[in-house]
Amino acid sequence: MNYRHIYHAGNFADVLKHAVLARLIVYMQQKDKAFRLLDTHAGIGLYDLSSEEAQKTGEWRDGIGRLLDAELPAPVATILAPYLDAVRSLNPEGEITLYPGSPKLARMLFRPQDRLSAMELHPDDSRRLARLFEGDYQVRVTELDGWLALGAHLPPKEKRGIVLVDPPFELEGEYERIVDGLARAYRRFSTGVYCLWYPIKRGAPIAAFHEALKALEIPKILCAELSVKSDRDLTGLSGTGLIIVNPPFTLKDELHAALPELKRVMAQDRYASHRCFWLRGETTEAERQRD
Ligand code: SAM
Repeated sequence: MNYRHIYHAGNFADVLKHAVLARLIVYMQQKDKAFRLLDTHAGIGLYDLSSEEAQKTGEWRDGIGRLLDAELPAPVATILAPYLDAVRSLNPEGEITLYPGSPKLARMLFRPQDRLSAMELHPDDSRRLARLFEGDYQVRVTELDGWLALGAHLPPKEKRGIVLVDPPFELEGEYERIVDGLARAYRRFSTGVYCLWYPIKRGAPIAAFHEALKALEIPKILCAELSVKSDRDLTGLSGTGLIIVNPPFTLKDELHAALPELKRVMAQDRYASHRCFWLRGETTEAERQRD
């Protein structure tokens, strides 16, 4: 396990993933009933962007760094507000030095009744995450293989929940593992909202991955992708993708509004692009005409 998220925290992929996670949480909170977030690959929760590691790659500068400085149209600012307000509140002096990972962001948005189960396999990272939430009865951190949690930890006892699967993709076969993991999890918890992350770069088997997801008997699967540069540029990722199962009915429209702005703000060359479409599900007549 060589992957350390500190090198990538706050980059364009984190921005899209965390902005969507915040929307999913806000949506869950439209009902008073409690929900649980199962974060299968949780990381350390809080990232110091002034650290040597984060400064070495500087990836956050082209992600959250650009977004915080950007002028956004009012509707998009509203969509991104739960996410950006959380980031800003960690950095009251203005200049950004702290960036919330998925468990910390979620916890910042929680109401008293909401719960987080966070899995992290790396012993050091798991210990750091546990320390971050020490004494917090709303959070349980477990040093565990997140893929196992997709079986044993579902359904949550609240019967309402979001499952975030954000693996490091350092091993072969991670796309297949996501498909298998989703199939297993969905059998146990078909009403859950799932958010699955995947990288986009030259040679990545995206089309086969999408086909495999389509072949699952899951009626509602939304896909959102943002590429910030041409995949001919082989340094780092060219793009980022999210699969959202059982998305809130408003999410596609929100992404339709936000993705062009995220592209505009974080593009690294003129080949930047975005798309958002149903892999499985209803495309309404209005969407068909607009898309
Ligand atoms: N979800 C985090 C966020 O958004 O802030 C970032 C997670 S990072 C991309 C992936 C994390 O998964 C790393 O911290 C890594 O140590 C951990 N990891 C790797 N394999 C794992 C496994 N099988 N189960 C749980 N965690 C794992």
